[in-house]
Amino acid sequence: MDVATTAGFHGLTVLAGPTAVGKGTVSTYIRDNYPQVWLSVSATTRPARPGEQDGIHYFFKTADEFDQLVEDGDFLEWAVVHGKNRYGTLRSTVDAAIADGKSVLLEIDLQGARQVKAAVPDARFVFLAPPSWDEMVRRLVGRGTETPEEQQQRLETAKLELAAEKEFDHTIVNDDVQRAADELVSLMGLTPHAR
Ligand code: 5GP
Repeated sequence: MDVATTAGFHGLTVLAGPTAVGKGTVSTYIRDNYPQVWLSVSATTRPARPGEQDGIHYFFKTADEFDQLVEDGDFLEWAVVHGKNRYGTLRSTVDAAIADGKSVLLEIDLQGARQVKAAVPDARFVFLAPPSWDEMVRRLVGRGTETPEEQQQRLETAKLELAAEKEFDHTIVNDDVQRAADELVSLMGLTPHAR
């Protein structure tokens, strides 16, 4: 089954939102607590951070390997994120999971979400919003994994991304990771854990 022709199928959910809103934290929480959600593992040219494992957090690729995947049409979507590294969703793994009837979640950037919307308009598009702009800046600076120049670049991207909320079917405010993850799981038609 080709995901691009799966009209009316709602097994595919896309989670996107501004930089440093905590998409990664929400998806990590879901990976650790909701095995019933099939979380797509993206390919990226970004080097692994300490603790990240190939095939679990990302498929780490060289630029040449990524070029080949693009050329072969292996990506459902891909994008250059923060003007630097490339990230993409592998079409075959997502197609297989959907064909298996799994509840598939993509945690991707806005450019990628727009590409998926063009390919699979009936998928569910969820925008993860920060509680406030100040909170978002605090999270970005507090993470400490980027240089000041990279932080500035990410904030510029974030301003544009905040304006995209209206393109999405649902908004979840990331005021609390567990609560936001539970709301997402509910939107996906699954049962969240009792608290
Ligand atoms: P990080 O380098 O911090 O893991 O991720 C940086 C950004 O890349 C995040 O905003 C994340 O949503 C985005 N990203 C991760 N995987 C993909 C993907 O497969 N496609 C797209 N378009 N963006 C991705």
